[in-house]
Amino acid sequence: MAATVEKERLTALERTRNIGIIAHIDAGKTTTTERILFYTGRVHKMGEVHEGAATMDWMEQERERGITITAAATTCFWRDHRINIIDTPGHVDFTVEVERSLRVLDGGVVVFDAVAGVEPQSETVWRQADRYGVPRIAFVNKMDRMGANFERTVQMMRDRLGSNPVPIQLPIGSESDFQGVVDLIDYDAIIYTDDLGTRLEETAIPSHLEAEAAAAREQMIEAIAEADEEFMMLYLEGEDITPDQIRAALRRATIARTLVPVLCGAALKNKGVQPMLDAIVNYLPSPIDIPPVRGIDPRTGEEVERTVDENEPFSALVFKIVADPFIGKLSYFRVYSGSLKAGSYVMNTTKNQRERIGRLVRMHANHREEVSEVFAGDIAAAVGLKNTFTGDTLADESAPVVLESIKFPEPVISVAIEPKTKADQDKMANALARLAEEDPTFRVQTDPESGQTIISGMGELHLEVIVDRMTREFKVNANIGRPQVAYRETITRPAEAEGRFVRQTGGKGQYGHVWIRLEPLEDKTGFEFVNQITGGVIPREYIPAVE
Ligand code: GDP
Repeated sequence: MAATVEKERLTALERTRNIGIIAHIDAGKTTTTERILFYTGRVHKMGEVHEGAATMDWMEQERERGITITAAATTCFWRDHRINIIDTPGHVDFTVEVERSLRVLDGGVVVFDAVAGVEPQSETVWRQADRYGVPRIAFVNKMDRMGANFERTVQMMRDRLGSNPVPIQLPIGSESDFQGVVDLIDYDAIIYTDDLGTRLEETAIPSHLEAEAAAAREQMIEAIAEADEEFMMLYLEGEDITPDQIRAALRRATIARTLVPVLCGAALKNKGVQPMLDAIVNYLPSPIDIPPVRGIDPRTGEEVERTVDENEPFSALVFKIVADPFIGKLSYFRVYSGSLKAGSYVMNTTKNQRERIGRLVRMHANHREEVSEVFAGDIAAAVGLKNTFTGDTLADESAPVVLESIKFPEPVISVAIEPKTKADQDKMANALARLAEEDPTFRVQTDPESGQTIISGMGELHLEVIVDRMTREFKVNANIGRPQVAYRETITRPAEAEGRFVRQTGGKGQYGHVWIRLEPLEDKTGFEFVNQITGGVIPREYIPAVE
């Protein structure tokens, strides 16, 4: 009996995907996510993802600005697999949010705009994903737009990102004539015949594309052979290679990060989404495919490893706190080992405090699911944690561990803030404190000289969002002062800065804004300048005078 349960649990793990949809703002992340939820059957009408509080983009502000700000997790199902989508924002002011999502997800779908190709922020998130060792597939979206170019986008992935993109599809037609894709593995064509994209025909490859498809298939097979030794042996034997053998090799190579499978489509036109879901299941890792998580035993200071096994002691990392308008404070966490029951006690080992887990919930596109227990490899949210914040470890009391956490950079911009009426002073202080709890990159301080309240964050938009939330959620109106941009500077000598900075604005060799923070030297004799994005130290002579 126990063995059966264990086997089921293992199957469940093999059939779990914790993924993020990563994109430059406007590439189509929201649309793609919405379509995924539509096809996985959780949203029954398109656009529903924008309604109600239990959806990905529930904040009014996000809808107005078209920016995904909150990182939450949504669960859906495809071909018997559970896919947990961990939201990652696309705006550069929220790079830290991307970072915390990358820490807890196992794989990513990177969405590119087929017209714009690889954009500066795509580069930034790509490198972040590299740093966290996240296996990826790429989706070249907007194939229906004027000027869409699949090949060019793939070439840009090679040139700009230094990655090894391997197309596993070819577009059929492009711009207004975009009809579907050639599947280079099964070697057939998927043509969409209705506007909702629910009707698709698998047919023979159109004759005008036969030569191109044959060449692309050969290239794909060679690229996979280069990237996977086992497949190379098969290839060299010269026998016929089956689609299943190709898929198995692609899976190994994607997880080993020796290549990136590339797909294409037009999310808005409902084309190419189902094959992308297949690719998530086929090529992105399950929690068993990733290395064990490391941490420190706080009693001995020794390093310990925890594997994805429900029989190991419980350990989890909290990656997001959200003030849910209906059920209150939600702490999203990823379970790395063991299991956790609703109503039980755990140790917050980061704070060295005991916490009671109230209810456990899982978010779907349009409803919440109350769960009684969560297991290793899973993602869920707990209600009722009092002193737990983003980046904290939760662990079994009898086998405590502090997991490698998420690194939060220092804020780069500060503004003065005061309530519109004096009577609101206390309310404002309370609201700011609550918002700072949710967001480790948002700080509130009192200037010792002027007595002014100073708030700091990752960018102007970040602070605007905070002030806006304060008005809407806490009913406090406030005025903010001119931003005192302390360490955010435009690099004016690109030639000298070459190789030392992550390019932010791209295009024509221009260097744009670089986010820089000041770090005190160990001997306290001065400061060094650290690039916010890369973490690299910038020589002082490259920093123009700070205003
Ligand atoms: P996000 O900022 O990455 O979340 O991007 P959105 O999903 O909000 O999309 C940005 C804009 O591109 C919106 O106006 C979408 O309607 C549009 N869009 C998204 N996908 C496609 C597509 O496949 N084709 C075209 N033509 N437009 C798209």
